[in-house]
Amino acid sequence: MADKKQKNIGIKVPFPKNSCKDPLCPFHGRLKLRGRTFVGTVIRGAMQKTATIGWEYPFFLPKFERSETRKTKIHAHNPECIDADIGDKVKVAECRQLSKTKSFVIIQNLGKEKGFIEKLEAEEEAQEVIDKKETKEEAEEKGGKEDESS
Ligand SMILES: [Zn+2]
Repeated sequence: MADKKQKNIGIKVPFPKNSCKDPLCPFHGRLKLRGRTFVGTVIRGAMQKTATIGWEYPFFLPKFERSETRKTKIHAHNPECIDADIGDKVKVAECRQLSKTKSFVIIQNLGKEKGFIEKLEAEEEAQEVIDKKETKEEAEEKGGKEDESS
């Protein structure tokens, strides 16, 4: 199917190198795109043909004359021909609602985001420290209770 005529999806992005038989692929299937496009990072990719995309944007607070960082998280269809992995920077386009929370599809893989894995590892380490603290506190509480009962 490699010599199949390239389908114009209406957005100027390179045609994926791989082919697929996914009916919900804008390049090889019947899915039509309309609406908005965004660029984000894959923050979760363990689901079948679905990825969680997230990105940050500044939100200006007039009262404090400063910006705060806000986050957006969406679910997007991950076609087999693109197959974006966690940490990949991707371009998503809006389409019809594919499931309860999914109405976007990945149309381009822009490669690994710099420093994403390091950020993820740092977050995991921080979470581990918090978990350790919690388990310690729990153990102390349990110990205290045991002392009370005895
Ligand atoms: Zn495809």
